[in-house]
Amino acid sequence: MPELPEVEIIRCGLQPVMEGAVIKSITVNRPALRYPFPANFQARLQEQKLVRLKRRAKFLNACLSSGERLLMHLGMSGRFTVAGSRAVGNFAQGHGGDPKHDHVIFHMDNGATVTFNDMRRFGFMELIAPGEPSRLDILGPEPLDPHFNAEVLRAALQRKKTTIKSALLDQHVIAGLGNIYVCEALYRAGIFPGCLAASLSGDQTEALTDRIRVVLREAIGAGGASLRDFANTEGLPGYFQHSFDVYDREGQPCKNCDTLIERFRQAGRSTFYCPSCQQEQGRNSTLAIPRPNPLTSRPDGKGFYVQ
Ligand SMILES: [Zn+2]
Repeated sequence: MPELPEVEIIRCGLQPVMEGAVIKSITVNRPALRYPFPANFQARLQEQKLVRLKRRAKFLNACLSSGERLLMHLGMSGRFTVAGSRAVGNFAQGHGGDPKHDHVIFHMDNGATVTFNDMRRFGFMELIAPGEPSRLDILGPEPLDPHFNAEVLRAALQRKKTTIKSALLDQHVIAGLGNIYVCEALYRAGIFPGCLAASLSGDQTEALTDRIRVVLREAIGAGGASLRDFANTEGLPGYFQHSFDVYDREGQPCKNCDTLIERFRQAGRSTFYCPSCQQEQGRNSTLAIPRPNPLTSRPDGKGFYVQ
C-alpha cells in the first residue's frame, strides 16, 4: 500500500503535467472504485484548471479553479501513469498495469493524458465543495511539516491506550505512515513495537520523531518503496525496499547487531523488529505479544514462524 513517500513521488510526477493545466475532458470507465464517484463527477471536473496539486497524508489533494478540491487515494494498488506530455519532455510511455484496470483518464489541455489504474479498486476519488467538511479535517499532523515535533507527538501518544505500533498507524495521531515506515522508524529509534504508546519517555519520543522524518525523507529520495504494485508516473519502481532495516527481513541478521530479525502479528498485520536493538521494557509498559515458540522454529534456523 502506498504510504506518504510513495504518494509524494506520485505527486511529484503529476505536478509538472497537471498543475496549471486545464482538464479538457475526463473518461470514467466504471461507476465506483472503493466508493461511488461523486455526483456529476465529470461535469464538475471538465474545463476546470488544476490550480495546485498538493499532498496530505496519503491523499492527493488537487485544488480546482471552481474552488472544489479533488481528493484522490491510491488504495492498495492504485497508480497513475502520464503519457503524451510535451510539458515535461519525452516522458516514458511506461504503463501502470493491465489496461482493463484503467478506471479514470484525465485529458489535459497541454496534451498530457493521466491514467489512474487500480487493479484491486481500493482507491477512490472525492470532490469537496468549498467549506464542506472532508476526511482531511480529522487527520493528524504531517510528519514532514515544520510544526510537527516531539511535543506534538508525545501529547497525541499520551492519549492512546494502544501499542506504539498501532498508535503510529492511527492517521489521527500522525498522518501518512503505514506498516513499512512505522516498522522502520521504530527500529531506528530502538523502540519495541509492542510497548504502550503512552509509556514512551521524552527521549524516546524525540528519537522517534527524528527517525520518522529521516526514514520518510530517505524513502522519498529513493523514489519510494516498491514491494508489489508501486510504480511512479513513468511506470518505474522505487528503490527504498533495498534499504529496509527490518521490514520484510524476517530471519535475516540485524544490520546493527546480527541478531535475527523477528516477525509477529499485531492487529492483523506483520510487525518486524530486532529483539536485541528494540528490547521490551518492564511488564507494565508492554502489551503481551505472542513469543516465538521453539517448536515452530524454522528448520533453516532463520527466525521463527509466528502467527
Ligand atoms: Zn539489532
